[in-house]
This record gives sequence, structure tokens and C-alpha cells, in this order.
Amino acid sequence: MAPMPPPHVLILPYPSQGHINPMLQFAKRLVSRGPKATLVTTHFIISSVQTKASAVAFASISDGYDEGGVLSADSLDEYFRNLAEVGSRTLAEFIEAQRAGGEPFTCMVYDTYAPWACEVAARLGLPAVAFSTQSCAASAIYYYVNRALLPVPGDGSHVSVDGLPPMSRSEFPSFVARDGVYYPTLTDLSLGQFNHLEKADWVLFNSIEELESEVLAGLKAYRNARTIGPTVPSMFIDRSIDGDDCYSVNLLQADDACVQWLDDKPPASVVYVSFGSFATLNSEQTAELAYGLRDAGHAFLWVLRASEQGKLPAGFLEEVGERGRVVGWCPQLKVLAHGAVGCFVSHCGWNSTLEALSLGVPMVAVPQWTDQPTNAKMVEEVWGVGVRATHGGGEQVLLSRAEICGCVSQVMIGKRAQEMRSNAVKWKETVRGALGGGGSSDRNMVEFVEFLNSIKA
Ligand code: UDP
Repeated sequence: MAPMPPPHVLILPYPSQGHINPMLQFAKRLVSRGPKATLVTTHFIISSVQTKASAVAFASISDGYDEGGVLSADSLDEYFRNLAEVGSRTLAEFIEAQRAGGEPFTCMVYDTYAPWACEVAARLGLPAVAFSTQSCAASAIYYYVNRALLPVPGDGSHVSVDGLPPMSRSEFPSFVARDGVYYPTLTDLSLGQFNHLEKADWVLFNSIEELESEVLAGLKAYRNARTIGPTVPSMFIDRSIDGDDCYSVNLLQADDACVQWLDDKPPASVVYVSFGSFATLNSEQTAELAYGLRDAGHAFLWVLRASEQGKLPAGFLEEVGERGRVVGWCPQLKVLAHGAVGCFVSHCGWNSTLEALSLGVPMVAVPQWTDQPTNAKMVEEVWGVGVRATHGGGEQVLLSRAEICGCVSQVMIGKRAQEMRSNAVKWKETVRGALGGGGSSDRNMVEFVEFLNSIKA
């Protein structure tokens, strides 16, 4: 009898940097264990992805914005609405075409931010697996609030959430705390992410059990809610996990030379600053951050996307000279893995947070919106690897240079800095243990692959 072909998994991330990379890395881990994987993104995104020949296949579908992607939509809300409508149709057509071409999919792993994909899978009789690119903490808050199991705290009060320290309103994800007014579609989507999960066969979280075990316990109501992260490429953690191919996708051109710039800096002497692919500060806040970095007195490497660089105060770069370097985009993992970096000033996007934890770099948390305020609280209060410069997000944030300078100093020097550094090293080791043979994420991957192998064609 001919051997069974390996299961073929369709991986569907929401089309943005912070969602594609974790799901691509997850696809790579799957492939290293036997299944085939095809990552599906939009025509616009695929045009800017330079994929090396890789074991993960790529394919693209239309989201209705083939020329300009999300930036060509009138608003994020408009984009999300159209993505669901057009994406549902083009995804179904793609799955049918694969079937007709004799290369059917066995299962779909879809991003919880593309919940319509679950309906497509159900319609076409394909098992569906939800993949959350957020922390279990943020997911649990969305879930409890959506089910009316948790009130949103009023100003000045706190609520308790299983497995989390008492939470104030500004520490909730911004879509729950206040963005319903600004981003109604995104708020509905964030809250409703888990509405359809009863239909999903598995729910995978890009986290590790050791990091969020208690809060994860509250989500065990779902069938097979498991952690499989962090999806940081294993070349930065332990090459024996799944080889040393990085496979990350950079939608912006990274400045590799900044890694060499770090080479002649003393260990743990440089402050790395990045607010990810989306967040923006206004000119006043950018200036406060700039002067805070200047006043802290350490060398710094600052990722300021090209569209943001005009907000730097006049004469700032000349004033700091060689001590500061500003780049439009960098290979963040290489930077965080570099011994010269002593601190990460971050917006606390979930990927950046996991990357800092995985590579043992303490943080100054400057959350802006979405799940970042919740991640920032965990960084400071639960995992003990950083301090918060602001306790809320977005419009509420009044960054001051004194606060930035003070927070950077706390993370770079003194007794508290040593404690945060040693906690960071402990988490780095925990991550290695979770991903390595027999670790919590490894075991969950083994069982997930067994599930895939059990699906009848
Ligand atoms: N990133 C990068 N180079 C940069 C800044 C960020 O490669 O100069 C990567 C970073 O490593 C992370 C992702 O972009 O994987 C940002 O994801 P995150 O969830 O932290 O933030 P988002 O961009 O979604 O707000």
C-alpha cells in the first residue's frame, strides 16, 4: 500500500507583520515535524515578501486592496469589514482550486483576527484550528468581558481576573477600555474573537504555559486550548529545535549595518527602542522620548519608521552624535540577541514582548493601544522584567522626558536593574526549556501533529 501523504495545513494569518511572522514560524515548526504547510496572505503583502526557497509554501488571495493593502483603505474599520467579505470568497475559491488540483488541505489554522475563515472551513468541511497571536492574558480579558463574566473597571477602581493581578481600566486592552468609540469594528472583532471557538478543534496560543499557566487555566473551557510558543525562530534560542533557518518576513527594508554598530559597544550598554510596525507617537511625544534618551546618557539604537523620522526635534541627531543611531527598521531579533543591548524601550506588542523574554532583555514598557497596556503590566508586575513608563495607552499617554530617563536608568543601573536582569535570564532559560524536547510547548506540538495525522483525508 502507498504511504499516506503528509497532512497539508493551510495557515492564514491576519495580513500584517506582527501576525504573519509568528504564524510563519509556527508553520516552519510544523513542517520540521512532518506535515506540509502553505501560508496564505494577500496579493499586496506577498508582493513585498522576499521569500527564500523555504519548506513552507506561500500563496496569496485578494482582500479587495490588491494595490495598496490596509493603508489604501479609508479606515481600519473599513478594511476589516471588506477583508471579511472579500477574503471569505477568495479563500473558499483557493481551497476549492487546491482540491480540484489534487492537493487538498487537511486542516486550516486561522488567526483569531480572521474569524470569518472558521466559517469558510466549516462550509467546506475542513477541520479548523484557531491561532491567537496575543497573550493568554489579553485573550482572557476579551473572552470574559464578551461573555459578561467580567465588568470593565470604572475610573480609579480595580477588578480581579483569574490568574492576573488586580487590573484597572487603563490596564485592560484599549479596545475594551475605550477604543469602542474610536475603532468600533476592531473592538467588536477583539471582543468577539472567541465567539466561534466552539467550532474550532484546537485553540493555539503563541505563549508558554510557564508564563501564563493560571490565566490559561481559565481558557481551558475550549477544546484543546494549548500554548505552542514562543514562535521566536529557534536559531535565536536553540538550533536543535527546528534548524537554523530564520524565515522571518520583513515588510520593511531592515538596516543590517546597525548590528555591526553594536559590535564595538560594551556588554549591556545600549538602549534599544522600537514601537513596532504600527504605533505612532505625535511630534511632542517623539521629542519627549528623544530628550529622555539623551538625558539617560546611554548609547541608543532607535527604530523610527521613515514616515515618523520627521517628528524628531530639530538638531537632536547632531546633538547626540555617535551616541545615538536612528534607523527605519532593523533585524530586531539580531539586535535583541546582541550582548551590547541592555534594555528594550518597547510599545509591548506581544511579539516584541515574547522576543525580549526569549532573549533575556529587560524592558521599559511604553504601551500605546490594543493589548499593549495589559502586556506592559505583566512585564512589570508578574514577570518582573521591566518597568512601565506609562500605565495606559494612546491618547491618555503623557510621556515625559523625566519619566523615560528615570525608567531607562532603573533598567540599566542599580539593584533593581540587577534583579530585572536576573529575572530576564530565568525567563530566557524557561523559554528554552518549553521549546526543547519534552518541554511544555514541544509536548503540545507533538500532540497537535498527532491530531493532524489522525484526520482522515
Ligand atoms: N520588528 C523588526 N524590526 C524592527 C521592529 C520590529 O523586525 O525594527 C519586528 C519585531 O521583531 C516583531 C514585529 O516586528 O516580531 C513587531 O510585532 P509586535 O507584536 O511587537 O508589534 P506590532 O508591530 O504588531 O505592533
